[in-house]
Amino acid sequence: MKKYFFFILFLLCFLTISAQNNKKLDRPKLVVGIVVDQMRYDYLTRFYEKYGDDGFKLLIRDGFSCENAHFNYIPTYTAVGHTSVYTGTTPSMHGIIGNDWYDKTIKKSIYCVDDDNFNTLGTENGGKKSPKNLLTTTITDELRLAQNMQGKTISISIKDRSAILPGGHTANAAYWFEGEKEGKFISSTYYMQELPNWVDVFNNSKTTKKYLNQKWETYYNIKTYTESIDDDNAFEEAFNGEIAPVFPHDLEKLSKDNGGYDILKATPFGNSIVIDFAKEAIKSEKLGKGEFTDFLAISFSSTDYVGHRFGVDSKEIEDTYIRLDKDIADFINYLNESVGKGNYTLFLTADHAAVQVPSYLKSLKIPGAYIDSDNFKVFLKERMIAHFKTDDLIENFSNYQFFLDKEKIKALNLNVNEVAQILADEIITYEGIHNTVTAQTMQNTTFPSGILHNLQNGYNQKLSGDILVIPNPATISYSKTGSTHGSGFSYDTHVPIIFYGKGIQNGKSRDFIPIINIAPTLANLLQVEFPNGNSGTIIKEALK
Ligand code: ZN
Ligand code: ZN
Repeated sequence: MKKYFFFILFLLCFLTISAQNNKKLDRPKLVVGIVVDQMRYDYLTRFYEKYGDDGFKLLIRDGFSCENAHFNYIPTYTAVGHTSVYTGTTPSMHGIIGNDWYDKTIKKSIYCVDDDNFNTLGTENGGKKSPKNLLTTTITDELRLAQNMQGKTISISIKDRSAILPGGHTANAAYWFEGEKEGKFISSTYYMQELPNWVDVFNNSKTTKKYLNQKWETYYNIKTYTESIDDDNAFEEAFNGEIAPVFPHDLEKLSKDNGGYDILKATPFGNSIVIDFAKEAIKSEKLGKGEFTDFLAISFSSTDYVGHRFGVDSKEIEDTYIRLDKDIADFINYLNESVGKGNYTLFLTADHAAVQVPSYLKSLKIPGAYIDSDNFKVFLKERMIAHFKTDDLIENFSNYQFFLDKEKIKALNLNVNEVAQILADEIITYEGIHNTVTAQTMQNTTFPSGILHNLQNGYNQKLSGDILVIPNPATISYSKTGSTHGSGFSYDTHVPIIFYGKGIQNGKSRDFIPIINIAPTLANLLQVEFPNGNSGTIIKEALK
């Protein structure tokens, strides 16, 4: 009898708990997505000893770190990276094939988020934007759809594209930074008719001004920055008006010749401004406080601007990451206080990594080179005349893709595919070129792995060019100072992915993980549908 009594008691308890558990899905109150623009995976390890215990190290220690995560397409640019993280697919499907690209139908270059149908909110210019070129849904869209458009998505960055694309089509707001004489966060009428009061209050406060009225000095004594090369070196670009690219950088003095507030973009303080604004958004929009799950998408752009100007190995990069680590620690602290530890899920990744300055690599006897675009054009014209007795069969060359003038080719009674193949066979002979592939090959061949697989994932039949070119490793078309990105090589594709917080298993993975797995992993954690073009899979070991 006693036995039965306990069994029935146990059954009752079990049923009650199950009923309670079944009442509501146990979603986090808030998801925080952090993209660090141009963050290489090795910034986590190279500066490890310089980081505090409560920033990057906390995320790695208590979260789940993917140590072998890569972008799996070409080109590795900012708009493409942010879109792929949030859509769980590649440019072949989501349609964001570059930051800018040549539109074959209107025969003009377009910028990924420009849209003249909308107006700027907050300043005169810089806000005629929308996600109209994004062909698929994002994880942020799917969360809104799953909750019948309840729950908020707010997206924030210095760069417009890095705010707009993560927010998807249904963000309640995307905000980005307008520099020059403004120093303000702005938006587009795509999202709302006027800025919320808290944004005006932030813009009218002295928050951004205080960052401009100072010198950028190193956070710790520069002598301790032993992980980076000499402060004064030949591989970086000084600010306009500086004699040498060295600390301290007097921002107040230099701002006049460097675009006013725009100078802050290429300093760690651009990241701090984004944190300041994100905290205001959490407070004023009550993110993580409602019945439904909210999504805050943040992208730190200054890491990219600093990398482009000073290069991967500079003291400026080291200081930028030391300071970003402090900013992230401060932000996690803020989340714990306002949303509550255990109530939010956070992920941190990048939109691409970057090459070490090729001229620096060359100084170390490592191959590195520059493609001079003027010489390249002369070569192409010569080859076209030799084959076709005309030098203008190419309409546009951008993002290492050639767009042929199909009308002219037809008028000359030539075949487009044959012309493309002849030119591809010529271009491969040019110094510094590793591969040339025609659109026809992209359509007729499946590349299951390697660099051509990446190229194929970035190839969109409707939008891409007629000949695609891959330069050699560490070969770029760029100034001889500073770092850039765009290739499918590991130095551009290898980035951190760290998950942290509610629903996340503690641990790490050394498996190859394509970046497009972030969105389906979040979809599973949130129990919402996958973005509609998704081609990634769930990172199972990261979830509880
Ligand atoms: Zn970027
Ligand atoms: Zn960049």
